[in-house]
Amino acid sequence: MDLTPLEPWIARKIGATGALTRAALTAYQLAALNETLAWVRARSPFYRERLADAPPTLAALEDLAALPFTTADDIQAEPLRFVCVSQSEISRVVTLDTSGTTGHSKRLYFTADDQALTVDFFRAGMSTFTRTGDRVLILLPCARPGSVGDLLAQALERLGAEGLRHGPVRDVTATLDVLARTGAAGLVGMPTQVLALARYPAQPEGLALRFALLTTDFVPRAIIAAVEGAWGCVAYHHYGMTEMGLGGGVDCVARRGYHLREADLLVEVVDPATGVPLPAGQSGEVVFTTLTRRGMPLIRYRTGDVSHFIPGPCPCGAALKTLAHITHRRDNVLDLRDGDALPLCALDEALFALEGVIDFSASFERRPSQDTLRVCLAVHGDESVMRSRARRALLDLPALAEAVAGGALRLVTAATSATHVPSPLKRTFNDGRVTCGEVGGIFPSQMT
Ligand SMILES: [Zn+2]
Repeated sequence: MDLTPLEPWIARKIGATGALTRAALTAYQLAALNETLAWVRARSPFYRERLADAPPTLAALEDLAALPFTTADDIQAEPLRFVCVSQSEISRVVTLDTSGTTGHSKRLYFTADDQALTVDFFRAGMSTFTRTGDRVLILLPCARPGSVGDLLAQALERLGAEGLRHGPVRDVTATLDVLARTGAAGLVGMPTQVLALARYPAQPEGLALRFALLTTDFVPRAIIAAVEGAWGCVAYHHYGMTEMGLGGGVDCVARRGYHLREADLLVEVVDPATGVPLPAGQSGEVVFTTLTRRGMPLIRYRTGDVSHFIPGPCPCGAALKTLAHITHRRDNVLDLRDGDALPLCALDEALFALEGVIDFSASFERRPSQDTLRVCLAVHGDESVMRSRARRALLDLPALAEAVAGGALRLVTAATSATHVPSPLKRTFNDGRVTCGEVGGIFPSQMT
């Protein structure tokens, strides 16, 4: 099994001689962390205040646990107070529309060097499955210089491959035609958009896809299986968000979870309630600290994503950690009245596993006597058959089955013929409706 290319890349970045060791990486991360802390204290009004009581330098990485967290609300409230360089040094500002409590948009600021680090990560990460001469269709926003698709295309060029700047899917048949006509070996896109391509009934002749990279916080296993089944390709996960500098981690060929850009990001998993760091194997909230960013470094940023570090070595032989695929976001959970919780990902796995399902929306209505969950599917195939299949699949979820059997919940399902392309925005469930919108991800920023 091939070692993740992130490992030699990181070894070079940290100046390690020979194979990468945890000890060398830890020493590098501690030095980079102390440098970042000194940098933000000297230059960011927010961190000067926030870190006023913290020790001047940390003696060990574990000491980071004593430092306060940074939240999305902090950034939203006063993003400029995070910025550590003059405005003239900022090459890209990403504005995330949010439905947060402060009413402000969330802004992230990057220097040209910050963006170069991301391109370098994309280059190393994409080399896991990209070969020289490959054409790779980029179904991410690419129009603006410095957009995620633009950075990815630059990275592919450095690999001797060609990134085809397509942008999000707007017309399924047109995009499938491009895939066939260009003989693309791979594509990079959002899970539901790629699913709509893979499940389109009339696939063109000449598709030659070897890999698909699905990028978001949460990629349903059901979508991975559907994409691989349709095209006979291998589907990989990428984990990233704007706050991480767009890129965070990517599967190796073992595909058990992401290896992370550990020279640029220090990632922790903490107990969401107490904030205490958790050992490998225990699930909690992903928190990261940037180690190399200059424009707007972040210290202990709470992502809201839930995962765990996988204990033990990766079968690919890496010394790098493996972060298990994100299972869900903390706020993408529906609280049922009998105390059970239903994460959006459970609906995703149940419904996307059904052949013919392209997309769905759901709404939850809380009433004194009985709650109602309405699920509407967009499907290829017989609508009434799909509707009853979906209902059965949902009632296979124990939390839903119990709530319906006990009379606490009414489940209403509907199916209509798929005529739209699923939105490229992230799906959220935080106000009882499955909507597409910003949850700290890489997309909305680039869409505006
Ligand atoms: Zn690995």
